[in-house]
Amino acid sequence: MRWTKAFIPTLKETPADAEITSHKLLLRAGLVRKLAGGLYTFLPLGLRVLRKVEQIVREEMDRTGALEVLMPALQPPEIWRQSGRYETAADVLFKVRDRAKKEWIMSPTAEEVITTVAAAEINSYRQMPVNFYQVCVKFRDELRPRFGLMRAKEFIMKDAYSFDVSDEAAMVSYHKMYDAYKRIFDRCGLQNFPVEADTGVIGGNYSHEFMVPAETGENEVVYCEACGYAANIEKATSGIPKTAPREAGAAAEKFPTPGVVTIDALSKAPYSVPANRQIKTLVFIADSKPLLVLIRGDDQLNETKLVARTGAVQVRPADVKNEADLAHFKSLGAMPGSLGAVANVPSDWTVLADDRLHGANDMTTGANEDGFHLRNVSIERDIKVTKWCDLRTVSAGEPCAKCAKALKIRRAIEVGHVFKLGTKYSEKLNATFLAEDGSRKASFMGCYGIGVTRTLQAIIEQCNDKDGIIWPTLVAPYTVCITPLMVGADTAVMKLAEQIYAELSAKGVDVIIDDRDDRPGVKFKDADLVGFPIRVGIGEKSLANGEVELKRRGGQLVLVKAEDAVAKVLELIASASN
Ligand code: ATP
Ligand code: MG
Repeated sequence: MRWTKAFIPTLKETPADAEITSHKLLLRAGLVRKLAGGLYTFLPLGLRVLRKVEQIVREEMDRTGALEVLMPALQPPEIWRQSGRYETAADVLFKVRDRAKKEWIMSPTAEEVITTVAAAEINSYRQMPVNFYQVCVKFRDELRPRFGLMRAKEFIMKDAYSFDVSDEAAMVSYHKMYDAYKRIFDRCGLQNFPVEADTGVIGGNYSHEFMVPAETGENEVVYCEACGYAANIEKATSGIPKTAPREAGAAAEKFPTPGVVTIDALSKAPYSVPANRQIKTLVFIADSKPLLVLIRGDDQLNETKLVARTGAVQVRPADVKNEADLAHFKSLGAMPGSLGAVANVPSDWTVLADDRLHGANDMTTGANEDGFHLRNVSIERDIKVTKWCDLRTVSAGEPCAKCAKALKIRRAIEVGHVFKLGTKYSEKLNATFLAEDGSRKASFMGCYGIGVTRTLQAIIEQCNDKDGIIWPTLVAPYTVCITPLMVGADTAVMKLAEQIYAELSAKGVDVIIDDRDDRPGVKFKDADLVGFPIRVGIGEKSLANGEVELKRRGGQLVLVKAEDAVAKVLELIASASN
């Protein structure tokens, strides 16, 4: 390719609305352009990278025996109603109507569609295991599209769906995908690691996310360097001890605490109740039903865990400004700050308590009377807990549950997600088969997603320096950039440049020649900004000694004999780590 024909609109200035490095570089290197928030056009160079990432994904999927298909982007709402996700996933669904006013859903994912296919086509155990995948545009009505391709309204996802005859067989399919994901992200040149994950609205019972460490990532990952434990903070647990039991005190006792409505205020004189002897009582509304949540005063509630434990579609904190919610506070008898679960809790309310409070006594909590608290509270004795569960957020430094070493926390970008689904979708959409023993069973499913466009941007977020992108070799838009510093048609410089270009092209190398009649500084800056892995610089001075410049992006410049240039470039490509 010739630069003058390639359409590479690089930008000197950083676009004002790009917040993170990779988003800025996507725009500055001329890879994409924004149409509207969360919607981007891939320009020729960006599309080349996208195709290369897709190629890696396809090769690794094919290698596992998964079969590529292509499902419609418009999906009938009926199958979403059947699976139950018409309601549970409602907030991200883009819906359109046709001329007959019939509603359609623009695919955010395709469990319902593929399960419909399986219901009709997979009738015998002999047809499994089978895994179908596709690489196509998905649509999600994100609350906050941002950071360029990272969280877009429309993005490219590889989604795969496995069907198996049993739970054990499904586990084998799951691990095949897990291993393939590792290879995909490694080949993309990404530092990446799998973590245990929450299963969210998709449902299911076992899941891992593939994470790319990055300060700008939207996820927090809890990990242990000693034993390798790693989990999304939405799922992570630690070996932190339960609340130390004390001498069981007398009955709970009410005492006045005028104006005290925070854990912090109660921990100060004259009350001096340490936060770890306080119970925080929170009111939530889960699918329009009130719910009490109890966690220790020094702990933070994890709302994702709360949603998972309730199994509700919508969970939100109760709000005193909302009239219906206010009635709930009134039935307890107090406003936030004086709430508790010892007295006045209506019998039909659910009370969820965090495991760390199990067996705790000598605790202090709100008295459900404004301006009063209760001390000497023994949870087991004084509170009717509906369900004990893990609700707290792990903090850095807590002991690992597996090996007791201190846990760490880092931010990361989720680039892929694998789920074991069980029979949730196959039962609802009647994807059953005739088993070997003659019985009819629902098939055991797994689903596996990779954000292809997010992965592309994650590569940039991880591989860059002050001058621009540093593409890993396998995904670079062009592997080699030849930069003649004088472009007149019959100069020796240009002749050699054309010769090397022709030879590398003939060897199948993706090569671009910067044939612009521009200053060397401009050309070098652009080559670094776009981030081609290898640059061949050809100038009059070095050529007078029969030499050309060879430079790996981010590496040292070396002079090589002009006649060795092609061989050296091929060596560099062969020795690239990905
Ligand atoms: P997130 O938690 O980031 O919203 P998700 O868990 O909803 O993502 P999945 O349903 O697991 O996403 O989708 C599979 C993959 O698709 C994700 O791992 C991610 O890489 C990508 N992805 C999801 N939503 C978006 C989006 N809005 N823009 C770009 N990529 C996305
Ligand atoms: Mg996910």
